[in-house]
Amino acid sequence: MIYNTIIIGGGVSGLMCAYQLAQAKVDFLLIEKKESLGKKLLLTGGTRCNVTNNLDIDTFIQNLTLPHKRFLYSLLKDFRPSDILKFFYENNCPLVLENDLKYFPKSNRSQDVLEVFLKKIPHHQIKLNTVVSKIYKYEDIFIVECSNAKYKAKKVVIASGSKSYPQTGSTGDGLKFARDLGIEFTDFTPAETHIYSKQVVKEFAILQGSSLKDIVVKIKATNKRSQGDVLFTHFGLSGPAILHLSEDIYDYMQKQKVILQIPLGSLSRSEIDEVFNKSRSKNMTILKTLEQCTTKRIASLLLEKLQIENKRINEISKNLIHKLIDSLLGYDITVDRVQDVTKAFVNKGGISTKELSPKTMEAKRLSNLYFIGETVDLHGPIGGYNITIALSTAVAAAKDIISKST
Ligand SMILES: Cc1cc2nc3c(=O)[nH]c(=O)nc-3n(C[C@H](O)[C@H](O)[C@H](O)COP(=O)(O)OP(=O)(O)OC[C@H]3O[C@@H](n4cnc5c(N)ncnc54)[C@H](O)[C@@H]3O)c2cc1C
Repeated sequence: MIYNTIIIGGGVSGLMCAYQLAQAKVDFLLIEKKESLGKKLLLTGGTRCNVTNNLDIDTFIQNLTLPHKRFLYSLLKDFRPSDILKFFYENNCPLVLENDLKYFPKSNRSQDVLEVFLKKIPHHQIKLNTVVSKIYKYEDIFIVECSNAKYKAKKVVIASGSKSYPQTGSTGDGLKFARDLGIEFTDFTPAETHIYSKQVVKEFAILQGSSLKDIVVKIKATNKRSQGDVLFTHFGLSGPAILHLSEDIYDYMQKQKVILQIPLGSLSRSEIDEVFNKSRSKNMTILKTLEQCTTKRIASLLLEKLQIENKRINEISKNLIHKLIDSLLGYDITVDRVQDVTKAFVNKGGISTKELSPKTMEAKRLSNLYFIGETVDLHGPIGGYNITIALSTAVAAAKDIISKST
């Protein structure tokens, strides 16, 4: 038997592609290596699934770190966050807005997002517990080799994810298939993840579990920066600003030692100067002065670190005041390592977008071969970007397959 289409991978991108083909009555087979579909989807958003966000396309794209982010423009134009809202609403899984940015299912259950797909994909068109090991083309037909059988199809969609969370089935197989098929890619590396720092563990033990709100973290001696909350943990640093910067930290660490500059408060230099000047006129203690610039805990910690006694501000040397202000504005933290690629929420890298049509996700070198979802070199920060990318790339491939099949 020759299928019209074989979809490899039953994550959110493969499921959306299968859903679209099922609705259009295009004959397909969905092959999934695990014993059930959508294992990663169920974990997303702390099992609540942050499906998408309320950003317009320009802001969505602007917030990505990818140099080739414009590739997403036509894909998102054809299937944008508002189309995702409509899709889930029409499938009895309404999404609700949270913090004026992220959309979650009203039920707060990722299982309900998965059910939308499971209800519409015929069971007999799904093969579970089936690992695809090789794909090649013989004349006009693709041969998909699995552990237990060979399947044939006119078209193949590779939706096998990245290397993040291999327990969900995503073990980077898409890159192996790409190599065999002569398609260019870059290896998967960690993105959106935590960092380890012995210095933080040693020097900031007292701050574990607390966070600095809405600060700008910089990688020292580079122009890389990220704004958001930073969380002190028992292993180093986490929080949105660190997660977002982690892929750059990883890249720089391959070449050099990475030092982060973390402001220990949210005041600017001129605001800090103003606080210090007022304190001088009232001759307040240095601790009381610092407490107006940062939290009480950090204020005491800074004095301890710089070995400054809690005297009146006018009794403290200018040199020490400069050191204090510099530390407040950007404390140097040495990074030991970035969380492993397998434990990162998302991976950077994958199939080069230069290899793919930005309208259809079809490979330019090999017609009727498609790559969708996180297996492609497209990713975003936390906040519904990645599932949006998975869904819009899936819809683009499905539309092309449907148009060729009818
Ligand atoms: C803990 C966690 C939370 C997240 N939360 C969010 C969130 O709330 N919002 C958001 O937008 N993004 C989130 N993400 C990211 C998002 O989940 C992924 O970007 C998205 O699921 C990728 O979908 P995909 O279909 O491309 O790949 P995957 O979901 O990884 O699916 C790939 C599928 O292919 C199968 N497969 C792989 N190789 C083979 C093979 N050889 N043969 C057969 N089958 C194979 C796998 O078993 C798997 O089922 C989160 C990620 C993690 C890890």
